[in-house]
Amino acid sequence: MTDAGTDQIAAPDRTCGEGPHDRLVLRNVTVIDGTGAAPYGPADILIEGNRITGIWETSSSASLTERPAAEGAVEMDLSGHYVLPGIVDSHGHIGNTQQAPNSEYVYKLWLGHGVTSVREVGAFNGLDWTVREAQRSDRGEIAAPRIHVYPAFRPGPAGSAPILTAQDAVVWVNDVAERGAKGVKFFAASPVTFSAALEELARLGLGSACHHDQRRASQVNALTSARWGLGSIEHWYGMPEAMFRDRTVQHVPAGYNHNYEPDRFAQGAHLWLQTAERGSKAWEQTLEEFLQLGTTLSPTFNIYIGSRDAARVRSSEWHEDFTAPVLWDFFQPSEENHGSYMGDWGTEQEVAWRHAYAKWMSFVNDYKNLGGRVTAGSDSGFIYKTFGFGIIEELELLREAGFQPLEVIRAATLHGAELMGIAEETGSVEPGKLADLMIVDEDPLANLKVLYGHGHLRLTDDGLHRVGGVKYTLRDGIVYDAHALREDVKHLVRSLKEAKEEGIPLHSHPE
Ligand SMILES: [Zn+2]
Repeated sequence: MTDAGTDQIAAPDRTCGEGPHDRLVLRNVTVIDGTGAAPYGPADILIEGNRITGIWETSSSASLTERPAAEGAVEMDLSGHYVLPGIVDSHGHIGNTQQAPNSEYVYKLWLGHGVTSVREVGAFNGLDWTVREAQRSDRGEIAAPRIHVYPAFRPGPAGSAPILTAQDAVVWVNDVAERGAKGVKFFAASPVTFSAALEELARLGLGSACHHDQRRASQVNALTSARWGLGSIEHWYGMPEAMFRDRTVQHVPAGYNHNYEPDRFAQGAHLWLQTAERGSKAWEQTLEEFLQLGTTLSPTFNIYIGSRDAARVRSSEWHEDFTAPVLWDFFQPSEENHGSYMGDWGTEQEVAWRHAYAKWMSFVNDYKNLGGRVTAGSDSGFIYKTFGFGIIEELELLREAGFQPLEVIRAATLHGAELMGIAEETGSVEPGKLADLMIVDEDPLANLKVLYGHGHLRLTDDGLHRVGGVKYTLRDGIVYDAHALREDVKHLVRSLKEAKEEGIPLHSHPE
């Protein structure tokens, strides 16, 4: 089976990024290694080809002569800089033609924010198209992070066989596995097909993620699917239902219609408010069982953040320079576009969501403190969240949830890599691992805002300045000037806006 494909424009062959180099030395850096260990430095990092082959701590007993020789090596003097693992985004979408003018726009924003690995959960541009992009990226042909493709669990194009039985599910899983899927994204699968698919994925050693669609959550909540072997719970759906003790289904007001998104998102907050209290037996038992099952939480706090303060997401500082006109249009309140539900979003909705966030965040933080794995996912391309910026906001929201800065970085790097099954190769700054790194000239542990592409605003003696912004992103040893990538995006956005003003169609295929 192949799919119908997409109108989305594939990335052009790579013209930016240098390397991988035979030998590259990053001199005098401070290392935040992603494992949760405290920062250390100054250190020199030797990269040969696409791999880190040595780290020398220049303040340790190692003498300077033991530092990697400069001979024949490309050297970067990075005094005052911090080196971290590249960010692993556990929930990304490349975006369709309504969300992004082309895929290059998305990839450059990802790399421009230090993102080196993404789980593409849904493959909404089609499995085959998305796998092709992932393979081109792996070969270094396009400037993009590594992409693991998780197609949505649903029949292929019109006319494909429906997935009705356990056997159908097994056949479907094997088909997408052969076509290059690294896992599957579930929404509202029936118990019989969902459990069979998870069993087959486990047999094949592939991953799984689920957005527990509320139309199915009365039968399959997050704990049900975790018991069947689900890898990660996306967003917040399905967890409150697992902790219901004074009811078995969510109470929704008369007239509620799940398919009407203003209703659905307004009532989403009340789902958290209707579930068990923090510290209750139900709360503790649920966390404990997720821990025993090894389930990962991929909360994507940032994507719903407009629900608690719509004005803030509508007016985010980066929209002007970085949000493509087509994406801006997609964000506007409408009854057609997914996530465009804030057409009449008032105080009552926002206050409910603020309370819901407090409870949801404490659940996620409690899970982390028990030893559970939590990752950072962006879900950008919806609800005023622009690619790249969303993942950095996710780090800030993990911080707000109670994660220490080092725990935030670990969630966004090593723990994401573990979830993707690539932690032996990437996710931390250690000899032997791939050179998937981000480099920044401000301390992100002191202020995560320095990772935003538009930088952090600071008043100094000589005026108001933007500082920070990821400076370099290394993916497989290829060194990208992250600032230049973001400038490319700004230029594209500017030209698209000009074209729009002149009435030229915004989205057209290259001939
Ligand atoms: Zn999503």
